[in-house]
Amino acid sequence: MSALEIHVFLCRKDNIGVLVHAEDGTTAAIDAPDAAAILAALAETGWSLTHILVTHHHGDHTAGNLELKEKTGCRIIGPRGEAARIPGIDDAVDDGESFLLGGHRVEVIGTPGHTMGHVTYFMPQDRAAFVGDTLFVMGCGRVLEGNHEMMWLSLSRIASLPGNTRIYCGHEYTIANARFGATIEPENALLRHRLEEAEQRIADGQLNVPTLLDQELQTNVFLRPHNIATRRRLGMGAVADWRVFGELRERKNKA
Ligand code: ZN
Ligand code: FE
Repeated sequence: MSALEIHVFLCRKDNIGVLVHAEDGTTAAIDAPDAAAILAALAETGWSLTHILVTHHHGDHTAGNLELKEKTGCRIIGPRGEAARIPGIDDAVDDGESFLLGGHRVEVIGTPGHTMGHVTYFMPQDRAAFVGDTLFVMGCGRVLEGNHEMMWLSLSRIASLPGNTRIYCGHEYTIANARFGATIEPENALLRHRLEEAEQRIADGQLNVPTLLDQELQTNVFLRPHNIATRRRLGMGAVADWRVFGELRERKNKA
């Protein structure tokens, strides 16, 4: 099968815009942070919007829904648990369901925690996952509606996808995340290397999204609560992974 084309661009201040384009012309925006930025990206690529796949209800992910629907006639797909809060939603989807997007399979994975209905869209044939505000490059989303145990379970589900999965997240927070991570795992040479790379990329006006799951497993401290050095540093012994995760999330909130 031929490849899906994926275009990534900055929206608003630090939101990531993503357009996914299939061979048959089907084009989906992952979330709609800003209609104008997405329309500009469509003009640049020459693609016509057919769908918006919404990860969660927050305004910085849905603000463009109605304008884009009115201007392009696109269909809006979003999480059933938050359907009432997603402007213009046509099709509600939930954990365990799947659908075809231009002939490409999309699996819906429930990833609650940041919001209660948050979903991730995984395209197994294309090795791409659109994770919204659950996982970030070397970081993770704030736990706003759920709890630490729930968020850890959601992150674990993403972490168990194939290692060569490309992760498309909702924000460019890479440098702040990596700097925090380096305080937790100062001995992690790959993390330090990726921090330097990320700083260079931002200085060059580039984005750090997508990231590769394999690299996240090695450098994202929020996916590594089992790490012995981290537990020692936090003074946490044989407790559940989600408790260490929760302590990291609390420290990052205050950082
Ligand atoms: Zn959000
Ligand atoms: Fe967001």
